[in-house]
Amino acid sequence: MLGLYLHVPFCLKKCAYCDFCSFPGEGDSTMIAYTEELCRRLIARSFDCERRGVDTLYFGGGTPTLLPLSCFERILGVIRAHYRLTDDCEITVECNPATADRDYLTALRHMGVNRLSIGLQSAHDRELRLLGRSHTVADFEAVFGDARAAGFENISADLMYGLPDQTVEDFRESLVYLASLAPEHISAYGLKIEEGTPFHHCQDKLVLPNDDEEYEMYLLCTRILGEYGYEKYEISNFARPGRESRHNLRYWQGGDYLGFGVAAHSCFGGERFGNSRDLAAFLRGENILCEQTVLSPGERDREFLMLNLRLSRGIGLEEFARRFGKPLHDYYPALTELIAAGYLQEKGGYLSFTDQGFFVSNTILSELLEAVESPD
Ligand code: SF4
Repeated sequence: MLGLYLHVPFCLKKCAYCDFCSFPGEGDSTMIAYTEELCRRLIARSFDCERRGVDTLYFGGGTPTLLPLSCFERILGVIRAHYRLTDDCEITVECNPATADRDYLTALRHMGVNRLSIGLQSAHDRELRLLGRSHTVADFEAVFGDARAAGFENISADLMYGLPDQTVEDFRESLVYLASLAPEHISAYGLKIEEGTPFHHCQDKLVLPNDDEEYEMYLLCTRILGEYGYEKYEISNFARPGRESRHNLRYWQGGDYLGFGVAAHSCFGGERFGNSRDLAAFLRGENILCEQTVLSPGERDREFLMLNLRLSRGIGLEEFARRFGKPLHDYYPALTELIAAGYLQEKGGYLSFTDQGFFVSNTILSELLEAVESPD
């Protein structure tokens, strides 16, 4: 099985924290030209995938819901004609609340789109304005209702925490607001100030929550969403039972996927490759690979370790010993201390992070990788 990712790099305007590959203010003609180039590349690549079924399809961005409906029709038509989509293929479209209404969403649903991922980010208009988002909380609520009315039974929504001037109580209110609407899936990400963004330019003036407050916000996600029936299955992702994102799980479980469009990445047949962000070159039909790596078996194993530890289930200790030749404890004796200190836990043959551990997982993971790479 295989997943397809399609990057739609167009937005109404640029948010203050965003370093995703997206271009504000492009018109329909550019989007139509982009769609045609996407389709050309989808068809060209399909010959390598004749024997593979496709069980997840993900339109990410940018803002995919800025695309005219005819573009979705064209892309989905090409994919159905040239790839073997499974009957229960998960087809997700990311949606900005300012860009879709009931008719638009109904049309997407009729085309077979069965999952929406809507960016809310905060349940406070003040925070949305500060983030430079192009929608209000009321816009989100309207689009959420429209999505339900259009027949979407699988909706995800995103929140952010660690925002400038945000208190723990502000974030708690956002969590409760969103959980009360009962989407099937919620992602909650901590704000990172990325280089080159407007937030980066004025970071000295931003009053960000301190580490303790941010940790409290992180813990609130598990506690409050748990009370509403969501289970954490990845560092930042929560789902009702059976509603985990199949597409994202594929990334974390090391499955194969092909990415199309500017800045899209792929992992296919033991190779990783990524496209550059150059929209003009893409539209000219140029080959715009910016990264191409054939993973050695050792690299694949290390990636397996990193990705599995992002998941709440963690890494299977037997599987680790099979791949790496000896038990994880032998590589990394500090494990015993980290378990005793409550950062990691061992359950049913799996080693996983606790909430406390997830919050500092980057540090622990880099130590762990170092130990595995140079065991002596
Ligand atoms: S809508 Fe999303 S992709 Fe577009 S600028 Fe904002 S954060 Fe970036």
